[in-house]
Amino acid sequence: MFDAFTSQDVRHFLLAFALAIFGLIFTTVMAKRARKNMGPQHVGFAEKHEFDGRVSWHCVWMEMAKLLAKGRSCDPRLKVGCVIVSADNTRVFGLGYNGSWAGGPNEPESLQPGKSGFVHAEVNALIKCDFHTPAEKIMYVTHSPCIDCARYIINARISAVYYDQEYRDLSGVELLKNAGIYTAKMSSIVKYDEPQTEIS
Ligand SMILES: [Zn+2]
Repeated sequence: MFDAFTSQDVRHFLLAFALAIFGLIFTTVMAKRARKNMGPQHVGFAEKHEFDGRVSWHCVWMEMAKLLAKGRSCDPRLKVGCVIVSADNTRVFGLGYNGSWAGGPNEPESLQPGKSGFVHAEVNALIKCDFHTPAEKIMYVTHSPCIDCARYIINARISAVYYDQEYRDLSGVELLKNAGIYTAKMSSIVKYDEPQTEIS
């Protein structure tokens, strides 16, 4: 049956094969390049931020979260601040700190860990967040989210979470990572020769 193939058929076959291979390589390279060009939109873009003489956006947002914690929270035990921004660093979608309900007393029900009765900073930021604007949303929070907040963050489709300090229980971080949400401690991505605010 192979006698039926002429040398011209073989040449055509080889040409088609070569074109198919070239097409495959071309689309793979272009797809890779497109992913690279996503820049800040791409989750996990800041594997390691290099200090370029200016305050990084990471630092700007985390300092804002720290200011909310330090300046607004009335929890004497743990002050937490949270900011939700667009991945391109042009918009703030929501912010919050741990505290009572609106108009409630500015003191915790208990000083025992987990018994303050306060609404968590992440929840306050999420319930005020502008979800009408279709943009990738990044959360900056002074302390790593608890397990409950992690569930809310996942359901709110937040793309990445950066935290400054570790909360006593890291199950929230574990859940976020298992859910595929880029979660990182600030010190692991930002060189700390940038201005830093101390929070309790
Ligand atoms: Zn929480």
